[in-house]
Amino acid sequence: MTSPAERKVLHGIGVSAGTASGPVAIVTPAVGIDEHEPASVDLEADSQRVRDALQQVATSLTNRAEHANSETSKKVLEATAALATDRGLIKQIDKELKKGTGVTKAIHDAVEVYAGKLRKIGGYMAERVTDLYDIRDRATARVRNLPEPGIPTLEGPSILVAEDLAPAETATLDPDQVLGIITEAGGATSHTAILAAQLGIPAAVQVKGIAEAIANTPVAALDGGVGEVIVAPTPQDIEELEERSRRRAAALAGSSGEGATKDGHKVKLLANIGTADDAAKAAQYDLEGSGLFRTEFLFLDRDAAPTVEEQTETYISVLKSFGRRRVVVRTLDAGADKPLSFADLGPEENPALGRRGLRLSMAREDLLDDQLQALANAREAVEGAELWVMAPMVATVEEAEWFANKARGYNLPTVGVMVETPAAAIMSEQILSIADFASIGTNDLSQYTMAADRMQGELAELLIPWQPAVLKMIRETAQGGERNGKPIGVCGEAGGDPLVALVLVGLGVQSLSMAPGKVNAVRAALRLHDLQACKQMARLALESPTAAQAREAVLGAADPVLRDLL
Ligand code: PEP
Ligand code: MG
Repeated sequence: MTSPAERKVLHGIGVSAGTASGPVAIVTPAVGIDEHEPASVDLEADSQRVRDALQQVATSLTNRAEHANSETSKKVLEATAALATDRGLIKQIDKELKKGTGVTKAIHDAVEVYAGKLRKIGGYMAERVTDLYDIRDRATARVRNLPEPGIPTLEGPSILVAEDLAPAETATLDPDQVLGIITEAGGATSHTAILAAQLGIPAAVQVKGIAEAIANTPVAALDGGVGEVIVAPTPQDIEELEERSRRRAAALAGSSGEGATKDGHKVKLLANIGTADDAAKAAQYDLEGSGLFRTEFLFLDRDAAPTVEEQTETYISVLKSFGRRRVVVRTLDAGADKPLSFADLGPEENPALGRRGLRLSMAREDLLDDQLQALANAREAVEGAELWVMAPMVATVEEAEWFANKARGYNLPTVGVMVETPAAAIMSEQILSIADFASIGTNDLSQYTMAADRMQGELAELLIPWQPAVLKMIRETAQGGERNGKPIGVCGEAGGDPLVALVLVGLGVQSLSMAPGKVNAVRAALRLHDLQACKQMARLALESPTAAQAREAVLGAADPVLRDLL
C-alpha cells in the first residue's frame, strides 16, 4: 500500500494533455546477449534449456492471446506463440550450439539465420521477422532468468512506465487499458510522444528518476499537459488533479466549429494521422480534415513493400473517412528513427542527416511511383475527395521541382512540400513558386536548425518550439508563401500547443495540424484572441533573445484563461 511518506513529485515534459492516476506497470527493456556466458559444453542440457525457455515463451503468449481484446491481436499472439516452438528454429539453435557458442548467442545467431530465410521467402513469411525478434528477446531473458521484455500483461487499466518506448510498441497500445505513459527518456518530438498524443493517452517524457521512484510504490498520478508526475499520490493530490481537469473542461466548453480567431480570421484545424484507423477516429472529431497523414506509420513493422492495390485500399478508406474534407498525404518518410526494412539503403553514420525522406524516395523511385499511383487511384475512386500530396525532407529547389513534376505526372493536382530543413525555410520563396503549398514540420525543423537530435532526450530544451531561431525560420517560410500567394501550414507538434499556435498564426500560418485530441484546446485559444493580438505575440516572441523569455512574454500577453488550456 502507498503512504504519504513515499510521496514524490517529479517533473518531465508534458507531451499529451490529460490527467490520470492508477497502478503503474513497468515496461522492461530487452537484455541482449550475455557477454560473459561460457561456451556450450553440455549440448544436450543447453539445448533443453533453450527449448524450455521457448516453450515458456509460447505458453505465455498463448495465455495473452486468450485474453486479447481484439481478434487481430489474438491472431498475432497465437501466430507468434506457434513460431516460438517452430522445429526449424530449434534445429538452427542446436546447430549454433554445436559451434561452441554460449546459449544466448546461439539464440541470437540462429534467429538471424532464420530471419534471413523468412525474408528470402518474402510476403507474409518476411513479415514474421519482427515476431521472430520478439521471441528471441523473450527467450533470451528467460534463459538469463530476467523478466521478459516489453509491455507486461496488464491486470487492469494502468499507467505505463518505461525507459523509452519504440514507436512500434506504442502503436499497439490499447487506450482503454493504458491510462497514461511516463518515460524516463524520449523527447517531446519523438515519434513515441507523437503516437501517445495520437492515441489520446496522457503522457510525459524525460521524467528523470521515475523508475527508481516507483520501485516500492505501485501507484502514480500524471498530468500530461504540464509533465508533472506524482508517485504515491495523496487523496489531495488526486483531488487537485481533478480540479485541474475541471478548469480545463470549463475553458474548453463550447469549443466547436471552424478554427478562427476572435475577429473571424480563419485558421484550418486539422488532424495528424498514421493509419486508416486513425483516420476513421479523427474524422469523428470536430475538425476540418487531415493536415498530415504519416504514411510510413502504416509500414513500420513490415518487411515487404506494400503493393499498389494494398495501398490504394488504405488510401480509399482514409479519403472516405474525411469525405469532402482536406486530406494531406505525406509520401513515405522512411529512415532515421523510422527505418523500414523494405526501404533500407544500408547502414549510415548519421541517419538523420542521411538518405531519409525524399532522398530515400529518389534512390528508390519504385516505392514512390507505387505510392503516387495508389494515391491517384484512390483519388479517382472517391468522389469529392480533396487530396493534397507532399514530400518530406525537402532541402533544395530542384528536389521540390522533381517531386512536383513527378506527382503532377500522376494527375495529382495539389502538390506541396514539407519545410523541415533550414535550407527549405530560407529558400521558401523559390520553392513556393513551384509547390502549391508548404507544411512546416517543426519537429525536424527544430532538430536541424538547432543541430539537436530529436531522439536525444537530454537536448529537449533546445528542441522546444519557442527557440527564436526556429520561429525566425517559420517567419521566413510564411513570408515565402505570402509572396507567392500559397498557403503555409504547420504539422509538427508545435501546432498542437495552444500558446505556440497563437504565435504561429501571428507569423502568417494558415492551418495547424495536430493530434485530434489537441484540436479543442487550440481552437479555444484562437477564439480568445484576435489576429492583431496574435501578430503582437509573434513580434514579442521574435524579439526575445531566449526561448524561455519568448514563452514568458507571450504568456504574459495572452488572455489569462489560456493558462487553463495548457
Ligand atoms: C516534423 O518533422 O515536424 C513532422 C511533422 O514530421 P515527422 O514528425 O513525422 O518527422
Ligand atoms: Mg519530419
